[in-house]
Amino acid sequence: MYMTQGPAWSTSGLDVAAGRYPLSVERHIMRMAGLLVPGVTTVTPHARYYSLHALVAIEAERRGLSLQQAQDLLRRCEVAMAAVSYAHDHAEIGLPRAHGLDALAARLQSGEVVMAEAAQPVKGGYVRNVWGFWNPYAASEISLGILTSAIMPTPGPACAADQVIAGLDGILELAVRPRLTVDELRGHSHLCVCAGGGAADGTWLASLLCLPGEQPAEAAGFVRRDTIRLLARVMGTHEIGDVTNDVRPVIAYGDFLTSDPVAASLDTAPVWRGVCYATTRSAPGDACGRGSCQRSSA
Ligand SMILES: [Zn+2]
Repeated sequence: MYMTQGPAWSTSGLDVAAGRYPLSVERHIMRMAGLLVPGVTTVTPHARYYSLHALVAIEAERRGLSLQQAQDLLRRCEVAMAAVSYAHDHAEIGLPRAHGLDALAARLQSGEVVMAEAAQPVKGGYVRNVWGFWNPYAASEISLGILTSAIMPTPGPACAADQVIAGLDGILELAVRPRLTVDELRGHSHLCVCAGGGAADGTWLASLLCLPGEQPAEAAGFVRRDTIRLLARVMGTHEIGDVTNDVRPVIAYGDFLTSDPVAASLDTAPVWRGVCYATTRSAPGDACGRGSCQRSSA
């Protein structure tokens, strides 16, 4: 004879010893993020590499570079940006180090970088991949129209050459130098990974992310724009010390999404509530991180 007991929480680990996603929502969450913020990636925090890769694409097209020449130019540009970011004292602003900086640290501490050595995709260089750090960015850059889908960086329909070239003025000259000295690079702080926000290329990228309609086939951009508006509104109306931890509860719980006039006007806000709720582990009554709900019988 069967008797129902529960429902109750099972002990964790019945099926998976140490599952990070016990409710198996990861695939759903990633798909929703792709729909809500197309072109935005969690793989990297450095927006300025979007501009840098655009510049490489523009230059490669202008000079008719071969694949190998484009690879060399891209790596040299990334080394130059990393070296400039080492020389620039931008203090703790929450921005991680530039790509490859750890590998370049010993050279930079000695005062200079020999480009032919640092930019080689071998052990001892700043990265082993022939395309430097382009791969993690490529899908987003193509999604945004900065590049087209090709075997090497190629300007896309949204690539604004004038603004990209103006914002990164001087980095191509640094990239072809035989060596870079740290003292000299202190005069190029406008090329640092932290300096995109106030530069022409940063203005272009901000428009690209937040002003859909200026480019063709940018319907998905309206959803991205509304997501950015939602985040900006939360941060402008709350004390946010840590974005990752402090923004999510505001969206997941409470009446902000309906009481705030801006948030209430955004169709994406309630969608984000569902996404955030599914990923929130710390709220009372939250199911994530615990075992699966079961009904036992005896
Ligand atoms: Zn900086």
